[in-house]
Amino acid sequence: MVKLVVCILSVSLLVFLVPVIAVAAQTQPGWAVLVVDVQACFVEDEDGALAVSGTDRSYVKKVNRDTKWLSKKGYLILGSRDYHPENHVSFTTYIDPGPPGPWPPHCVQTAGDSRALVDNNLFFELVKKGQDPLYDSYSAFKDDGGAVTELDAILKAQGITHLIVYGIATDYCVKFSVLDAIDLGYSVIVVEDLNRGVDPATTAAAITEMETAGAVFVPRVKDAYKITKESSE
Ligand SMILES: [Zn+2]
Repeated sequence: MVKLVVCILSVSLLVFLVPVIAVAAQTQPGWAVLVVDVQACFVEDEDGALAVSGTDRSYVKKVNRDTKWLSKKGYLILGSRDYHPENHVSFTTYIDPGPPGPWPPHCVQTAGDSRALVDNNLFFELVKKGQDPLYDSYSAFKDDGGAVTELDAILKAQGITHLIVYGIATDYCVKFSVLDAIDLGYSVIVVEDLNRGVDPATTAAAITEMETAGAVFVPRVKDAYKITKESSE
């Protein structure tokens, strides 16, 4: 009899505790992190086909370390991933805006260079983009043809209203993701030291454009965390 009572008590305790543990995992309600395109194809030390300057081993290490830290602090972590078919339009046609000429083939589905370099276990979801051969997709939210990814639906379903964004490249995929996020009603903080840009001039112009649209730029993740804490007090 005593055994039975203990058993019933343990089960009820477990039923009570499981939802508490699940909820406790996300302790920054309303806030999520979006890691944009930190992939082998964009990274120098991975011999990326479209390597962006300043993406050495220490950059990738820093993105990993800071993303893990944010995850431990209770933020929901999401990422985006450029993922092109071999006949993707950006390999043969000039995409506006872009450098003169088409992009070299990069993040090709069959080449294995589109893998994300941030610990995949940190991601609540890793959204693929640029899969349609006919359209490019700098933004993690939608492509140039207007087709949306699942990102906005996931964020809305999770009650997210505020985003911390960083990644590659400041002047293309970070910029268009941030501008679309603001258009969709999210408040956005961009972490400067976790961003890398293709070209200094277009990167400076992109930062101005994002700030004008309402994005807040902070030097490091700890500054973003401070703003989160202040806004929840
Ligand atoms: Zn691409």
